[in-house]
Amino acid sequence: MLNIVLFGPPGAGKGTQSNKLTDHYKLIHLSTGDLLRSETKAGTPLGLEAKSLIDAGKLVPDEIVVEMIRKKLFDNRGANGFIFDGFPRTTEQAQALDGLLLEMDESITLMLALDVPEEELIKRLLERGKESGRADDQNEEVIKKRLQVYKQETMVLKDYYQKQNKFHNIDGLGSIQEIFTRLGDVINKVSTTL
Ligand code: AMP
Repeated sequence: MLNIVLFGPPGAGKGTQSNKLTDHYKLIHLSTGDLLRSETKAGTPLGLEAKSLIDAGKLVPDEIVVEMIRKKLFDNRGANGFIFDGFPRTTEQAQALDGLLLEMDESITLMLALDVPEEELIKRLLERGKESGRADDQNEEVIKKRLQVYKQETMVLKDYYQKQNKFHNIDGLGSIQEIFTRLGDVINKVSTTL
């Protein structure tokens, strides 16, 4: 399996690039943000609980997102691999993911971290908010809160994967195609050494 953690702060382009990578490498795209938003849309108790946290720019509890991922992994055992987008976001989630993959005799192949300056992130998120209707993209205070949560709780995962020699930094500025080419170059290089 090719198991990729597509990493980066909110607005880095993870969703856009995940869609392209999923098509190209025939992988399953697992976005905890998308999974949570569909629960909210369906009006499930979990979705309603998550909504107030999402709208405030805070993280949803680890147990909830880990359980969602567990189910998706075991439902797709025969897949070529997975792209994890917006997950893991805490050390506990990364450890849980390693444990789940181990149960499947699998592991993370690599982490690709999209690097984008903060001013550009805020600009992109406000722009996206106009089209997506996502409340968490329309309010600059909530955007700043999400960037703060990223720095405080999520960024540390770069070290987590660096220690396993799986971390790759990718310049996240440029056209969608340019960034996709940069990601593909690393994936292809790593895949040949597997
Ligand atoms: P995203 O679409 O990845 O930007 O996620 C939107 C929101 O969903 C985040 O700001 C969090 O409130 C929540 N969320 C998504 N993924 C996770 C995760 N792995 N852990 C905790 N909360 C998450």
